[in-house]
Amino acid sequence: MKETLVEYFISLITIDSESKDEKAIAMKIADDLKSLGAEISFDNANEKIGSNVGNLYAYLSGDINKEPILFCTHLDTVVPGKGIKPIVKDDRIITDGTTILGADDKSGIAEVIWAVKQIKSANEKHAPIELLFTISEEIGLLGAKNIDHSKLKSKFGYALDSHEVGQLTIGAPSQNSMKFTIHGKESHAGGEPELGISAIQIAADAISKMKLGRIDDETTCNVGIIKGGTATNIIPKEVFIKAEARSHDPIKLQNTTDNIKNAFIKSVQKFKLADFRARVDSDIKLEYSSFKLDKNDKCVQLAEKASEKLGLTTNTVIGGGGSDANILNAQGLKIAIAGTGMNSVHTVNEYIKLKDLENGYLWVTEVIREYSKV
Ligand SMILES: [Zn+2]
Repeated sequence: MKETLVEYFISLITIDSESKDEKAIAMKIADDLKSLGAEISFDNANEKIGSNVGNLYAYLSGDINKEPILFCTHLDTVVPGKGIKPIVKDDRIITDGTTILGADDKSGIAEVIWAVKQIKSANEKHAPIELLFTISEEIGLLGAKNIDHSKLKSKFGYALDSHEVGQLTIGAPSQNSMKFTIHGKESHAGGEPELGISAIQIAADAISKMKLGRIDDETTCNVGIIKGGTATNIIPKEVFIKAEARSHDPIKLQNTTDNIKNAFIKSVQKFKLADFRARVDSDIKLEYSSFKLDKNDKCVQLAEKASEKLGLTTNTVIGGGGSDANILNAQGLKIAIAGTGMNSVHTVNEYIKLKDLENGYLWVTEVIREYSKV
C-alpha cells in the first residue's frame, strides 16, 4: 500500500534528532530526496559546532527557466526528544506525554517533501526548488550561522517553522545575549563580614533598578539566569547573570542593552573597601539581526495567493522570536516564516491536527505551483 503523509510524518518524528544528533534524520531525508531526483550535498557546519552531520542542501532543477525558490526547515528538535511514541487520536497526532512530538520542525520537513513528491509524481512542470535543512537551530541557530552560502542558489523563499497554516511572519527582532560576572570579595559572613563585598547584593542592587519586560511596542528585555554563592556563611565573591534584549529597531536594541550593562557598572561602583573595588565583566553578543519584509515581496505575494486558493486566511504578522529566517534575511535573501500546523511546541503537550498537516503540504504545493506559472 502507498505511504500516506501521516505515515511519512510519523516515520520522521520517530527518528531521534535532538540538537547535534541530526545524522540519522538527515540520511533518511537525503535518500528520500535522491529518489525524487534531487541533487544532495552537505556542508561542514558540524565541524564548527560539534554536530554529527552538516546542513543538508537539496536542489531540484526545474523545467521552467526561473530562479529557484527556497524552503528551509530544521532537522533538530528540543529535549526530551528521544524515543518519541506518537499517537493518532481523534483529529490529531499527540505524544504519550513523556516527550515532545517533534512537529517542530518535522511537520515542515514532511510537508515540503510531500509537496515535491506529489508534484514530481504528477509530472507537473515546476520552477527550480531548493531545500535547506539546518542543524542545531534550537540551540542558537548554529547550523544557519554556519551555512556555506556558495551552495545556496535561491534569493527568496520560506522557513517552514511556525504555527498556523496560512500565517506568515514577515518580520522578527534582533537579539543581543548578555553575560555578566560580578566580582565582589569573599569573607567569613559571621567572623569578618566587614571585609567582604557581596556580589549577590551588587547584582540585586543593579537588577532592582533595571527596566525589564516589555520596554515598548518593539523592544523587550529579560534577566533570565542568575547563579552565585557557595554557602550561607560566606559572603559571595561572584555572581553570573544571563540576560537578553530584543528589538525590531537596532537603536532601541543598543539602548536597552546599554541600560542593562550600565546598571551593573553603576552598582559595582557603589561597593568598595579601602583597597578593593568590585567590578563587572560583560560579554555581549548579537545573536541575530532583525528583518522586515514588504507586502510587495515575492514571498509575501505568493503566500497570499496560495492561501487564497486553499480558502485559508492569510494572517501576516510580526514575530517576537529569532529563527533561521533572521540569519538568511541578514544574508540578503527574502525569507518569510510560514506556519505548518505545529502546536504547543517545546512541551510534552505538542500536537498537530491531521487537517493542518494536510493543509500545510497543500499550501507548499500551491506556492510552488503559483510560482511555477509562466
Ligand atoms: Zn522550530
